[in-house]
Order: sequence, then C-alpha cells, then structure tokens
Amino acid sequence: MSETSKIRGYHAHVYYDPATKPVAARLRETMLGKFKVEPGGFSDEPRGPHPISQFNVIFETTEFENIVPWLMLNREGLDVLVHPLTDSSYDDHSKNALWLGTPVPMRLEVLRPQYSESLLPAAQRTGA
Ligand code: ZN
Repeated sequence: MSETSKIRGYHAHVYYDPATKPVAARLRETMLGKFKVEPGGFSDEPRGPHPISQFNVIFETTEFENIVPWLMLNREGLDVLVHPLTDSSYDDHSKNALWLGTPVPMRLEVLRPQYSESLLPAAQRTGA
C-alpha cells in the first residue's frame, strides 16, 4: 500500500476577517460552482483547531489537481490551509499541512485524533 492511499480526501480551509468576509463568501460560491466539492462549515467563530474565522470545503483526492492550482492563483489574498484526511488529524493540521499564504497557528491541543464521518468526502463515509 502506498503512502498516499492512506489519504481519504482533503479539506481546504479559507481564513477571513470582518473586512475580507465578502471576498471569502464570493470565493466559496465560486468554488462550489466550479469544482466537485462538498461545502463544509462557514464559521465566524473559532472552531476546532482554527483560531479565527474560516470556511472549508471537502473534496476527494482526484479533485486535488484541479482545486489547488486554481486556489494558488485565485485565493484573493486570503490565507488557505489544504490538509489531507489521514488517520491522524494531528499530523494533517501540522506536519502534513499545505499552506497558501501565511500559516495560521493551529490549536492542535483541541483536535480529536480521528475525524468524524461528516468531515470526510461522502464517498468515504461508511454510512453506519
Ligand atoms: Zn479540516
């Protein structure tokens, strides 16, 4: 089994503040229209390991090559975290993280070791 076969999908988290919220909302709409992504949370409040406002989208590994290059060129100055979904959410939000822009310090201490099913791409959920 290759190392990458452990990746069950990805999240892209886009961070914003009150001033850039409209930009973030537009970017989210564009992403939902343009790519095979599932909308994740849109949160003004700190949530999980994310200390500031952010939204995320969930996508399968096959969509990575479409979304990530597009985000590189179209993130409108917003900071973006792309992280894999492996067996270790701690690693995914630290040493496995890919940042576009300036990294936001993660609150790793609040992470659960494993993802809840709702955070995985639909095709990866067991439905149990
Ligand atoms: Zn995430």
